[in-house]
Amino acid sequence: MAAFPSLRPSSGFAPALSASPRRSSSIPAALLVRRHDISAVSLRSLSGDRLGVKQRGMRPRSSGDPLGICCASSSPVVEKAAAAAGSKVSTVVDVDLGNRSYPIYIGSDLLDEPDLLQRHVHGKGVLIVTNTTVAPLYLDKVVQALTHGNPNVSVESVILPDGEKYKEMNTLMKVFDKAIESRLDRRCTFVALGGGVIGDMCGFAAASFLRGVNFIQIPTTLMAQVDSSVGGKTGVNHPLGKNMIGTFYQPQCVLIDTDTLNTLPDRELVSGIAEVIKYGLIRDAEFFEWQEKNMQALLARDPSALAYAIKRSCENKAEVVSLDEKEGGLRATLNLGHTFGHAIENGLGYGEWLHGEAVGAGTVMAVDMSRRLGWIDDSVVERALSILQQARLPTGPPDAMTVEKFKSIMAVDKKVADGLLRLILLKGPLGNCVFTGDYDRNALDETLRAFCKC
Ligand code: NAD
Repeated sequence: MAAFPSLRPSSGFAPALSASPRRSSSIPAALLVRRHDISAVSLRSLSGDRLGVKQRGMRPRSSGDPLGICCASSSPVVEKAAAAAGSKVSTVVDVDLGNRSYPIYIGSDLLDEPDLLQRHVHGKGVLIVTNTTVAPLYLDKVVQALTHGNPNVSVESVILPDGEKYKEMNTLMKVFDKAIESRLDRRCTFVALGGGVIGDMCGFAAASFLRGVNFIQIPTTLMAQVDSSVGGKTGVNHPLGKNMIGTFYQPQCVLIDTDTLNTLPDRELVSGIAEVIKYGLIRDAEFFEWQEKNMQALLARDPSALAYAIKRSCENKAEVVSLDEKEGGLRATLNLGHTFGHAIENGLGYGEWLHGEAVGAGTVMAVDMSRRLGWIDDSVVERALSILQQARLPTGPPDAMTVEKFKSIMAVDKKVADGLLRLILLKGPLGNCVFTGDYDRNALDETLRAFCKC
């Protein structure tokens, strides 16, 4: 059975960056509240107060939903103009978490601006965590940025093997070995220099070394710049499940030097675009429309298109994290397609498919299931599939993934609660989603059967 209706032609290429940098507050986004969690009303006032903006479009919590779902509009995050005159920082997005708030600096050539890093280093000891691919490209630059005019700081580095399959406990121990050998104390700072694998591992190491030390994120992949470096999810994989061991631990700052993308392989760039598309689908229809017009510019690495996509993605992520740091509900919506995707990554063996590739296929499966449930119409399905195809992301799982394999891996997903698998599904007009365990199990079975050969 075909999983999707036939596609309409692509909406074409429009290189001009026409969208407003701020999301219109009239675009609704889904906000979920678990049963026994704080009420929708209190969440609304919390978010409005925190961000100093008016929330609109609250929908009442569905009484029939065992997990209690409600939706609310999104709101713009606090965004500052460039930090200081003469700075190369083009945008600062704040992650608003009270006394753990931090800036995301975005701009070109930021690794050549030592003050940005140095102002977030508290003690005298720094440990840079990176890998064998990124170290030859950027390690010297980062050491230079940390030490320029700052002779008192002592910078060590640990260079890990490269790859998702090394995102595990044994490799993590190398970070602790180096930190202890270097006599680092509680005032030290760990610096993650690399993609999402390095960021997740370094963050987890920083969270647990001496029960928690400072850490800074310098993401160098699109995936890490639009998603993984922001929000403080850290951890490693377990052979039985992806990201099963970890903590929430926020960095002191995120420094995004967009020039680092110049050396990123195309396949990795496309992988990161999967998460950019996600923000549009789940909560930012205006951004999705921009992507429909500018996907070719992104793929061609147009600097202003990339900068805009990074900024807008960080704004979306920062806003969600500010409202729901520890994934009480809303934050889970950032995992659209990830339950299917993580199953693919685990089922094939970590590293066979890139994270974004698996998320791309998983998104198509989540969209398909949403349509089977009658929650979205065909136009949303077509647009979702079309943009993933434009981005050259996979739109279905590999042959090795069987229905049984999906089911057994998804059964240990982090979003299982009391034996119930909760999923992020699209619902309503484009830009709306729900995180719910209240869906017809037949729809999930039908989706799995439609996408798997056996
Ligand atoms: P990755 O870290 O493996 O990096 C991809 C590849 O690009 C690696 O080979 C890396 O060495 C290389 N690389 C990195 N920067 C480069 C550069 N500038 N030039 C050339 N090569 C470069 O993968 P990723 O896609 O960045 O991240 C995927 C990981 O992030 C997964 O483990 C995923 O679970 C995790 N993730 C975490 C979160 C979160 O919230 N913590 C969110 C999304 C993804």
